[in-house]
Formats: sequence, C-alpha cells, structure tokens
Amino acid sequence: MAEATATTMEFEELADFRQRLRAWLDETLPSYEGREAESSKQFRQALWDAGFLGLTLDPAYGGRGLGSEYDKVFREEIRGRRTPAVADSVTAGICAPTLLDFGSEAQKKAHIANMIRGAEVWTQLLSEPGAGSDLAGLQTKAVRDGDEYVLNGQKVWTSGAMNAHYALCVARTNPDLPKHAGISMFIVPLQGTPGVTIRPLKQMTGDSHFNEVFLDNVRIPIENLVGDENNGWRALTAMLTHERLALGAGTGAGGAGAGWARSDSRRLIDLARRRGLDQDKATRQDIIRIVVLERIQALMGQKMRDEIAAGVTVGSKGSVAKLASAILTRHASNLGMVLGGPAAQAWDPTDQSGGELAEASSFSPMTAIAGGTSEIQRNTIGERVLGLPREPSNDRDIPFKDILQNPMRK
Ligand SMILES: Cc1cc2nc3c(=O)[nH]c(=O)nc-3n(C[C@H](O)[C@H](O)[C@H](O)COP(=O)(O)OP(=O)(O)OC[C@H]3O[C@@H](n4cnc5c(N)ncnc54)[C@H](O)[C@@H]3O)c2cc1C
Repeated sequence: MAEATATTMEFEELADFRQRLRAWLDETLPSYEGREAESSKQFRQALWDAGFLGLTLDPAYGGRGLGSEYDKVFREEIRGRRTPAVADSVTAGICAPTLLDFGSEAQKKAHIANMIRGAEVWTQLLSEPGAGSDLAGLQTKAVRDGDEYVLNGQKVWTSGAMNAHYALCVARTNPDLPKHAGISMFIVPLQGTPGVTIRPLKQMTGDSHFNEVFLDNVRIPIENLVGDENNGWRALTAMLTHERLALGAGTGAGGAGAGWARSDSRRLIDLARRRGLDQDKATRQDIIRIVVLERIQALMGQKMRDEIAAGVTVGSKGSVAKLASAILTRHASNLGMVLGGPAAQAWDPTDQSGGELAEASSFSPMTAIAGGTSEIQRNTIGERVLGLPREPSNDRDIPFKDILQNPMRK
C-alpha cells in the first residue's frame, strides 16, 4: 500500500540494501521477461512494496527518507538489466517534484506516493497553439467563481493525456498584470471531467503519443490551485527545470527517472559487428565519439543529481544537460541509420525489430523540441548560466490584455 513503505521498512545499511535489491531483481525479473513494455505499472508497485522506490522521498509522503547514496545504488543495480520502466519521467520526474516544491500538504499527501508507485499518471497542460517557446503568452483563462475556478482554452502537444489521471495546468488568472505575472497553476483531473476533450495527434513515427486538449467551462475546486494565485510562473519555471533535468540528467522524485529517448552505444557496437563494420576505422571513430558523449552525459547527470540531493540549486544548468542529451540522441540515431544501411529504411516485414532504427531516427528530433527547444536552451544557458545580456523584449512589462494582437485584449 502507498502509506506502508516508510513505516514498515526498517533502516538498512547501504551494503544490505544493495544485496537485497540484487537478490530481489534476480528473483523477480524473469517473471517480466518478454512483457517489459506493458508491465511497468505492476513493476513499479512491486518495487514500491519491496521498499525500492521513494528512497529519498520524505516519509511524510510515503517515502523512506534515505540519503541519495541509496538512489545511486538503485541506479547502479538496475543499469544494464532488462526491466520494465521504473518511472514515468513526466509523472515522477517532472510533476511530482513540482508538486513537492509548490503543492499544499493536502495535495502532497493525496498524490505524491501514488505518482511514484505508478498508481497515478500525470501530464502537463502548458503549450498552446500560440504559446510554446513564448509560454508566458498563454491564453487559457481561469476565472474564480465562488469555491471553484472555471477554465477555458486550448492546449496542445500534451504527452500521454489520453492515459493521464491528472494534469498540472497553467492558465491566466489576471490579464491586467504583465504576461509573466498573471498566471496560476492548477491540478486538473482529466478522466471523465465535464468540459475536457482530448484529441490524439499523429506523429511521424506513426504513434499518437501526444494530444490536443480542449477545456470548455471546466470547473475545479479552489483547493486545486498549486501555490498562490498569480504566482504560477515561478512554479512553471521550476517545473521546466525539473523537466530539463529529467530529460537531460535522468532525475526523478524519490527514484530513478527514465528519459524518453536514450542513446545506447552498446546497440550501435552490436549493429556494427552484425554488419561486419566493427574493424572499419571510420565506424570505430564514430562509435567512440558516441561512447565518450554518453559517458560525459552520464557523469554530468550524476553530478547534478548529487548536487540536488545535497540541496544545491542546479537551476538553469539543467538546460546544459537537456541540450547535451538532444545533441547526443540525434548523433546516435543518425549513426544507427548509417550503420543499418538500406535495411534501416526498408526492412523485411516479418523482422520484428526491423523498424527500430527508423523509429528511433524519426523520434529523435523530439529531444530538441520537448521541454523547450535547443534554441531556447541556448538562450537560457547564455542568459542564466553565462550571464550574457537578456534577449530584447517589448511586451514584458505591459498588462497582458494590452499586448497587440492578443484576443484577450478588450
Ligand atoms: C515529444 C514532445 C512532447 C511534448 N509534450 C508536451 C506536454 O506534455 N505538454 C506541453 O504543454 N507541451 C508539450 N510539448 C510541446 C513543447 O514544449 C513545445 O513544442 C516547445 O516548447 C516548442 O514550442 P512550439 O512547438 O510552439 O514552437 P515555437 O515556439 O513556435 O518555435 C518554433 C521555432 O522557433 C524557434 N524559436 C522560438 N522562439 C525563439 C527565440 N526566442 N530564440 C530563438 N529561437 C526561437 C524555436 O526554437 C523553434 O525552432 C511537447 C513537444 C514534443 C516534441
């Protein structure tokens, strides 16, 4: 059960923890063989019940309250094993830490444990047709009506909305304030909520991973406000930092996070061997470049996770990890297509792994878009990490309703 972990688990020495985890994985993983993709929810619950998730999470929210070294051991033991995903990066890596930072006690007690153990799936209602990189230009409105807020607007590119139970949604609560100042964050239940319409969008991979979400007079209780009214930009920028760290540095609340796309040099080496290219000098150079980038990425991720665990504010440095991850993933998927040769583009339909390289190739551009594009990461690094001058802007300090061509303008 969600509440049980912290109270029923005894403190364990690190070495005992490692040994117990290793034995547990050896015993448990064979039962998941061949069904890793569809059994992650069950696997997360089993990990939680055995006391292997929520390691660093505060016991007040169901965690074990252990040090980050336990999280490190968990990652080390799981690495290289074929397991179902141990965390949903949007729910556990992005929404849970945002709720931990800004949510009320009631919100945290109701949701955090369920988010980590996989019982609740969350998504982010941020981007809109006219507000992506310029997220502060969002038009979705939330108007207070007694004990409720009424939400109206359209969101887009919402990952996994069709399966999500809840979303963290940003909406404008005061158009008289400048664009960054009049925004609030809300918890919106998605399943069966009157006024919520979710429409899948087709991607170039052929999947429908993200959606348009329409909010028509959606009523939510005022208790669903996250943080203070009109202070949502702070929560939003914190959430984007969590997203960049989850994507770039593999962070997650109280357990290992899982990136959406990963470069895997071992697969490239295997492919080169199968194609008889493993002694080819140029191929070896290309692969070693990926191996080195992967190592740098892993060490950078480890450093950032350690810093977070030690209470150091990583902040905009998360953009460095996210940008590096986008560059690495793109290089690796391009090399996969080169090594795969013609079969990477046209494969025998009976070969079950035939389309894998093509899929990775058409999926990989997303790493340079999701969570803020690479251009935006470069701007952020320039301004907030290197201290270069801010990008010019002519609409920062005027009331949102007075910004030209804004439909909210009266
Ligand atoms: C796989 C995936 C999952 C996603 N999941 C979600 C989700 O769950 N929830 C959600 O809300 N959103 C989600 N998004 C949306 C994502 O956050 C946006 O696509 C992204 O922020 C870019 O916004 P945009 O698409 O509107 O592009 P735009 O902002 O219109 O940008 C278009 C181009 O202009 C460039 N550009 C814009 N402004 C600048 C500038 N100031 N300087 C330099 N270049 C600039 C951009 O880099 C880009 O190349 C997802 C996107 C992807 C690809």
